[in-house]
Amino acid sequence: MTRIVVVGSINMDLVTLAPRFPGPGETLLGSRFLTAHGGKGANQAVAAARLGASVSMVGALGRDAFGDQLYQGLAKEGIDLAHVARLEDEGSGSASITVAEGENQIIVVPAANARVTPTQVEAARDAIRHADAVLVQLEIPLDTVEAALRLGRRESVPVILNPAPAQKLPAEWLSLASHLTPNQHELATALSADAVTDFRELMRRAHCPVVLTRGGEGAWYCDDTHPAPAHQPGFAVAAIDTTGAGDTFNGALAVFLHEGLPQAVRKACAAAALSVTKLGAQGGMPQQAELDAFLT
Ligand code: ADP
Repeated sequence: MTRIVVVGSINMDLVTLAPRFPGPGETLLGSRFLTAHGGKGANQAVAAARLGASVSMVGALGRDAFGDQLYQGLAKEGIDLAHVARLEDEGSGSASITVAEGENQIIVVPAANARVTPTQVEAARDAIRHADAVLVQLEIPLDTVEAALRLGRRESVPVILNPAPAQKLPAEWLSLASHLTPNQHELATALSADAVTDFRELMRRAHCPVVLTRGGEGAWYCDDTHPAPAHQPGFAVAAIDTTGAGDTFNGALAVFLHEGLPQAVRKACAAAALSVTKLGAQGGMPQQAELDAFLT
């Protein structure tokens, strides 16, 4: 069984469906409201677990009602939560999401996610040492991200760095991560190359294996064996809600990385395509059998 460790955020998503996005100062009538379990870390952990991996999560939750629900949700997916801290003096993270016209806008309040520590990463050393891949994103403190990158490097375990939400990365991290998995905006921001609009040039500047996601167009990737960017076209589906597409992609990429990058990117695109056909970040994440059926 593939073993994955996810070091990342756990949020309650507060989702509002609307006919369009409101302008500044405008009030709109929405058509529906729901809560859904999210956070990039938790989403990627769930995506990997549904695809058959044994997943261990490193993160933090408040000891509040959202925290209880999120904890139980992850446990139900079979995810090991031994390294998820429950904080007495901090609330659980949340994300306010508006979905309109097949797109989304998101505001994240980190709360407990801002208190995931490098010490927790060290405490998960055994799980990381025995993992096939580690997944980390940028919704937790950067020193904790760096601790995960360094521990993965020390233990010779690939660490996939999903540089989302977009922010500038220390140049050194590019050589610590086994793969960077940005969308185009995130890659430009990570490299402080905002004026560069050619994604191939951006991938060249990263000097490390990059898997670039481009929405419905699929993904581009390069590594030592594919130095020129190769394209995996997106799978044609009727998109309902693209929230969590990138998270499904990352979770799947980690699970299938041992099959080689082209195959892992193909399966990640397929899993992510399935995920956008249903509402909610985790709602559409496919089970392994569903992905297999889609690909045959
Ligand atoms: P993010 O959610 O991080 O912005 P993307 O929008 O690039 O990331 O989506 C990640 C992956 O999800 C893409 O590489 C693609 O494989 C898949 N995907 C996203 N939107 C669609 C879509 N409308 N149809 C099919 N696949 C999609």
